[in-house]
Amino acid sequence: MAESTHILQDDTPVRYLKGVGPKISERFEKLGIYTLSDLLCHYPRRYRDFTQPYTIGQAPFNVDCVIQATVLAKHGMRRISGGRTLVRVTAGDDTSVLEISWFNNAYAADKLEIGETYFFEGMASGSMLRRQMVNPTVRTQVQVQAEPLLAVYPQTEGLSSLQIGKCIAQLLDHAELLPEPLPQAMLKKYRLLGKAEAVRAIHRPHSAEEAYAARRRLIYEELLILQLGIARMKERNVAAAGAPMRRTDPTPFWRTLPFAPTGAQKRATTEILADMAGKHPMNRLLQGDVGSGKTLVAAAAIWSAVQNGYQATLMAPTEILAVQHANSLAKMLEPFNIRVALLTGGLRAAEKRTTLAAIQSGEADLIVGTHALLSQGVVFRHLGLAVIDEQHRFGVRQRTLLNEKAHEPHVLVMSATPIPRTLGLLLYGDLDISILDELPPGRTPVKTRFLKGARRGDLYGFLDREIALGHQVYIVCPAIEDNPAQDLNAVKTYYEDTAKQLLPNRRLGLMHGKLKPKEKAAVMEQFKAGELDVLVSTTVIEVGVDVPNATVMVIENAERYGLSALHQLRGRVGRGAAESWCFLVSDHDGEAVQQRLKFLCNTADGFAVAQYDLETRGPGDFFGNRQHGLPDLQIADLMTDSRTLNAAQEDAAAILAKDPTLKNPDHQILAALVEQMFRKAGALN
Ligand code: ADP
Ligand code: MG
Repeated sequence: MAESTHILQDDTPVRYLKGVGPKISERFEKLGIYTLSDLLCHYPRRYRDFTQPYTIGQAPFNVDCVIQATVLAKHGMRRISGGRTLVRVTAGDDTSVLEISWFNNAYAADKLEIGETYFFEGMASGSMLRRQMVNPTVRTQVQVQAEPLLAVYPQTEGLSSLQIGKCIAQLLDHAELLPEPLPQAMLKKYRLLGKAEAVRAIHRPHSAEEAYAARRRLIYEELLILQLGIARMKERNVAAAGAPMRRTDPTPFWRTLPFAPTGAQKRATTEILADMAGKHPMNRLLQGDVGSGKTLVAAAAIWSAVQNGYQATLMAPTEILAVQHANSLAKMLEPFNIRVALLTGGLRAAEKRTTLAAIQSGEADLIVGTHALLSQGVVFRHLGLAVIDEQHRFGVRQRTLLNEKAHEPHVLVMSATPIPRTLGLLLYGDLDISILDELPPGRTPVKTRFLKGARRGDLYGFLDREIALGHQVYIVCPAIEDNPAQDLNAVKTYYEDTAKQLLPNRRLGLMHGKLKPKEKAAVMEQFKAGELDVLVSTTVIEVGVDVPNATVMVIENAERYGLSALHQLRGRVGRGAAESWCFLVSDHDGEAVQQRLKFLCNTADGFAVAQYDLETRGPGDFFGNRQHGLPDLQIADLMTDSRTLNAAQEDAAAILAKDPTLKNPDHQILAALVEQMFRKAGALN
């Protein structure tokens, strides 16, 4: 009894549980489980359903399933090659016979009795007449009655779902230890289970309905905590004072352009200029599919900041893109005598000194650059606006760094990687969002085709005809050097042995990340000027590059990229009025790869593409190395639980409206959980 009073603390380390020594508790730590309450909140992924077992004859082939059958014979234990043991049992029902074997589990059949009926869970193979199952788990009728849905937990090496389940079972009588974070009113409003009840039910549901009710309650709790934390982050940003500006009318800027801005561009600009004239620093995300014309909106904001007597800066993820932006912005802003400087890592020492001096003296109005802008030597004279292009390529940390370069400048981040709206709201929960949902007029969707390498000859025939029409072509290959082990089309070899051979009379250029900045710039210039017909390149051209005369994008080894990356690459074409094409070349036979590439062929919508990536690859993959700084969620899923997410957002706002710092005793547990969730994610540092 003394033991069990001891574990009546939810922050008791797991090693105090029966059967959990230092080794096992280390394995628990791998799963992020340190305390008993962590363990109670380690929710199952799914359940093995024993309520509707198969007969032997009806069991599906080669998928996990549960078969109910009677043990007919036990064949005892045998030693087989490699010092292994084999135990065999024959079971049967009215439909067929099931041969069961266990390897290296000498006692597997000891508790089975001939003539008794059991549930065997595993993969059934063999033929119609003689089915087989290897290493199944066995449960008795009594066990199944007590626990018809068996929880399946996220496991780790040396710690199976079954073991985890046994540890949790010891705790279920103490579930009341977990305090109830949700106010009573909330429980009533949504008819949610209480915390302890939900926790017990999620681990040991008596029915699918009960499991569902438990999930619903726990998902809501998790999302409410998430939304409260996000709202708090947002609050911090609002607290600071920014660079005060007058509200400017962008008409004089629009008038100098060779085309009219789209409705979406005008709307976004209005929102941005209003923010910049507000009391607090702007924190806005400009989200728009590739080619929607984000640069122009940024230019309008920059124009306005400079009209107000401030400097502005624009940071791009690659040198190529920075150079392109510096050139095109200089052209757009020239009528207003706005002086543009370029700062990249590739500058010579002397150039760099001059540029740094111009930034510090205020001689430069707009400074365009790469992350070199974040380096120590860069001192702005009076930075009023910072624009970050292709935000998803940078971490949240870089955004903060740039923020610190000046006294709270207005910040505009732009992303072409379309982020599904719910996720965008969360990732950039401390941001407002403007969306460019309209492409400039006269664009036709890029025709996308998927083909095997064997048809490269035909493809090049097509390229040659396109070039004859005066159009230009990109060909993207994965790596720089050949890698025989991976059978990749390395860009250099491909350029010499494939592209040049198949297009002997055309002008080809080679571009990759290992070229010197000056060389890159020179190749890009030639391509822009139409002096090259084809640019064979690595993905350094993935984002932002804008050459409207290019109409064909060929992507070799297309299987290597996520859909969002492919969509970005495809966005390099279809920027002019001419019909454009994207060819995905791959010899990969994998079903998933083929499906992915075919999906892209049928979808022009970047949001749908991002959604597909997110569903098939998960948000971690989607954003690279989890740079978004959002907490990991235990049970909720941002995609499928988006309605609950919205409800939780409203509820969080309502709670904070009455109790902004969560000081109310009713909210104390919530406050602690918010703190815990966000501290774990490092989002509150
Ligand atoms: P992204 O949103 O992908 O960054 P860009 O800013 O590079 O798109 O713009 C894509 C192309 O569309 C550029 O060539 C740009 O000059 C052109 N463009 C932008 N806005 C308009 C417009 N309102 N009308 C016509 N062309 C436009
Ligand atoms: Mg862009």
